[in-house]
Amino acid sequence: MALMGQMMSMPLLISSVIQHAARHSGDTEIVSKRVEGDLHRTTWAAVEFRARQLAQAFARLGLAPGDRVGTLAWNGHRHLELYYGTSGSGLVCHTINPRLFPEQIAWIANDAADRALCFDLSFLPLVEKLAPQLGQVRHFILMTDRAHMPAESSIPGLRCYEDLVEAEDGRYVWPEFDENTASSICYTSGTTGHPKGAVYSHRSSVLHAYGAALPDAMACSRRDVILPVVPMFHVNAWGLPYSTALVGCKLVLPGPHLDGKSLYELFESEQVSFSAGVPTVWLGLLNYVGANGLKFSSFKRTVIGGSACPPAMLRTLMDDYGVEVIHAWGMTEMSPLGTLSRLGSQQLKLPQEQQRHLLEKQGKAIYGVDMAVVDDAGKALPWDGKTSGNLVVRGPWVIDSYFGHADSPLIRVTGEDGRDAGLWFPTGDVAAIDADGFMQITDRSKDVIKSGGEWISSIDVENIAMAHPAIHEAAVIAVPHSKWDERPLLVVVRKPGEAGAALTRESVLGFYEGRIAKWQVPDDVVFVDEIPHTATGKMLKLKLREQFKGHKLPGG
Ligand code: AMP
Repeated sequence: MALMGQMMSMPLLISSVIQHAARHSGDTEIVSKRVEGDLHRTTWAAVEFRARQLAQAFARLGLAPGDRVGTLAWNGHRHLELYYGTSGSGLVCHTINPRLFPEQIAWIANDAADRALCFDLSFLPLVEKLAPQLGQVRHFILMTDRAHMPAESSIPGLRCYEDLVEAEDGRYVWPEFDENTASSICYTSGTTGHPKGAVYSHRSSVLHAYGAALPDAMACSRRDVILPVVPMFHVNAWGLPYSTALVGCKLVLPGPHLDGKSLYELFESEQVSFSAGVPTVWLGLLNYVGANGLKFSSFKRTVIGGSACPPAMLRTLMDDYGVEVIHAWGMTEMSPLGTLSRLGSQQLKLPQEQQRHLLEKQGKAIYGVDMAVVDDAGKALPWDGKTSGNLVVRGPWVIDSYFGHADSPLIRVTGEDGRDAGLWFPTGDVAAIDADGFMQITDRSKDVIKSGGEWISSIDVENIAMAHPAIHEAAVIAVPHSKWDERPLLVVVRKPGEAGAALTRESVLGFYEGRIAKWQVPDDVVFVDEIPHTATGKMLKLKLREQFKGHKLPGG
């Protein structure tokens, strides 16, 4: 019989992370640019205390373990308190992307059965509009103080966050429970159909926070000043609210203003050393810094991910500004970190051009993530840097099912030696892996578009076009864009007859008004005689993407 380990069995709970921060880095600062316009300063100890007050407040409101608490909020200290106050007490923190179309937000809040909804002042008009559709939400909580509460609101029983917190004494003991309990939930529309929820556990979140902080991952240290530009509603800001607490460093939360000027000023005034965000954000920052002849006095390192980092951006940051770029790949279903590109001692011996080439790839898997490339039958392909295949992953912070979906998204994989390698999560990305384990995304098999780090569902955009009485068939494809990385282009086949002949780019685009968020509307329309199809009748997007690769979008 196997000999069992004789170590203490302490569950990996999110409350242990914030307790560690409060105990060991209690006076380290958390700085927030707030929606109210001020720059707010607090500490890890104060965040932990207020998270306890929040936990008491939620219990007083009648929320029970497992209940979901929705948030519509920017990166700020109240959002951070909510992360810990909800998960720490056994509630489930449900961060919602406020950039989605209102109907989608309502759908997501209802699907998750949110019992409470906490939101920043800037989202008050949005929530007033949505409230009648949110039948399961019992408590609407405005994340502000009494002075900023509206004199009146159509939201029934609207509550003030600061009032709720201040009414409690904070004498609360974080409960202990199974580490596999759900801690948070995040929806992704990076697949077809309705958005789906990835449910993280305390165990997966704590393990991910450890992994993300490692020196060859994000290398978070107590000496750093970390500013996550990536929103806290995007896969928990890539885990940074946890990793920063785990190492106990200063955290700077930028609020709603993510333009180049606002970010630069905050980087300088708070002496930020490390940041993380999607390429579009860095483009804005670099344009501002370049146009004004500025330099960074403290910024040393940044993680760029969510979309491929353009090689020119990598070079500018490294060569002109001395900022180390860590290109990373991951997804909502992976908490999100999968791979990061950092060089080891062997690669550092290579000529500089080859080093740069490796840094442009999506990088090596961190411990906790197994990856493979497989053919359409699920058979593993060689790691030769040339053979592209479907990228699959597995690990303790990778989902094995979606919230409320009984069917498994996993696929069976066979090793190169023909042996059964078990069940893996198919990422929908197509990649090649070289002999040293550097992975490079070469294509995407999922039918979506990623603009400025946000998904646009091709199906949604196509369905609207297909509802137009003069459109016979429509396909939407991603075309490269200098600012947004990708933008949608609509390819249209007119219906025969007068109505079809009268269709114009403007009339087609006008049809989207009020039917979809403005930023999801295609940038351009091209008319073709026919759309290529496979033998089974599926649109051949690959061929279309190839055909319109060089299409010049207005303003692109
Ligand atoms: P999300 O779930 O919104 O985080 O999106 C995950 C998807 O974004 C991945 O499956 C990729 O398609 C894409 N993605 C993320 N990071 C990168 C990257 N560094 N390069 C290329 N695509 C990326």
